[in-house]
Amino acid sequence: MPTQSPSAHLPFGENKQADWYGKDIISVKQFSRDDLEYVFGVAHEMRGMVERVGTFDLLKGKILANLFYEPSTRTSSSFTAAMERLGGSVIPINEVKYSSVTKGETLIDTVRTLECYADVIVLRHPETGSAAIAAKAARKPVINAGDGIGEHPTQALLDTFTISEELGRLDDLNVTMLGDLKYGRTVHSLARLLSAFDGIKINYVSPEILRMQKEVMDEVAEKGVPQAEYSSLEKALPETDVLYVTRVQKERFEDPVEYEKVKGAYVIDPAVMKPAKKDMIVMHPLPRVTEISMDFDDDPRAAYFRQMEYGLYVRMALLAIVLGKA
Ligand code: ASP
Repeated sequence: MPTQSPSAHLPFGENKQADWYGKDIISVKQFSRDDLEYVFGVAHEMRGMVERVGTFDLLKGKILANLFYEPSTRTSSSFTAAMERLGGSVIPINEVKYSSVTKGETLIDTVRTLECYADVIVLRHPETGSAAIAAKAARKPVINAGDGIGEHPTQALLDTFTISEELGRLDDLNVTMLGDLKYGRTVHSLARLLSAFDGIKINYVSPEILRMQKEVMDEVAEKGVPQAEYSSLEKALPETDVLYVTRVQKERFEDPVEYEKVKGAYVIDPAVMKPAKKDMIVMHPLPRVTEISMDFDDDPRAAYFRQMEYGLYVRMALLAIVLGKA
């Protein structure tokens, strides 16, 4: 929203209900620990309501524009399901190739068009910073559903909610992030978000060319969170409470030869997981390619399918919050 865009990266403040109304969600840097507890409280209520009644009329008459310039299964369909379970409706633009974008329309003009018809815009775009640009141009709230290799804040919120629901805590956790930490926007957001909690340690396991971005590590270090980098999983795994596996982001590589070299760097399977704790969880933002073997899916520690469902409740909470109905 133009009047609020300079504050897009600032925390939300004390009076949650009033402060969140009409806000853009661009980066996890906007969320304090308090804000997270508020979002998770609302998400928890959403879960209860969905289990009890399925669909209800909290956002009746409200319209969401779902604007996706990049492929998506979970984010796009969970935002649609979230809006519809709250009684609202959705303008789906999942294939920008069928929209005026192919005629050369700019992101700003597209967003300005959609806000004439919708109350909130969910945007996925290949360029880092695009969500902030759209939010600056728009009067209605813009929710970042992934801006290139930048951030994916709603994914990190649902990841954190998953950890809290599955392990019952967000403090005192040893978290290992595995795979493509350079191009994976989900881990950029998650590392930042987890650094709001106490007793967190983060291990990064990746091939040399896919190491976690220095900018993210510096921000996490500023919060006093210990971090360690490894090229193999063995050392970090036995202490790990949350293993967060990521896909090597093929579409971000300039040189396909480089992708071929690292695409199969890690595979999680029952044998690899033997030294891990019994009460830890394995997460993945999905889609997976080869990095988690299907043989592991029946292990109770495999939380990645449950993680998707938590995403519905968190996205319901976020829509209700920015539309002033939480
Ligand atoms: N779905 C996630 C994202 O959009 C993870 C991935 O694509 O690998 O970032």
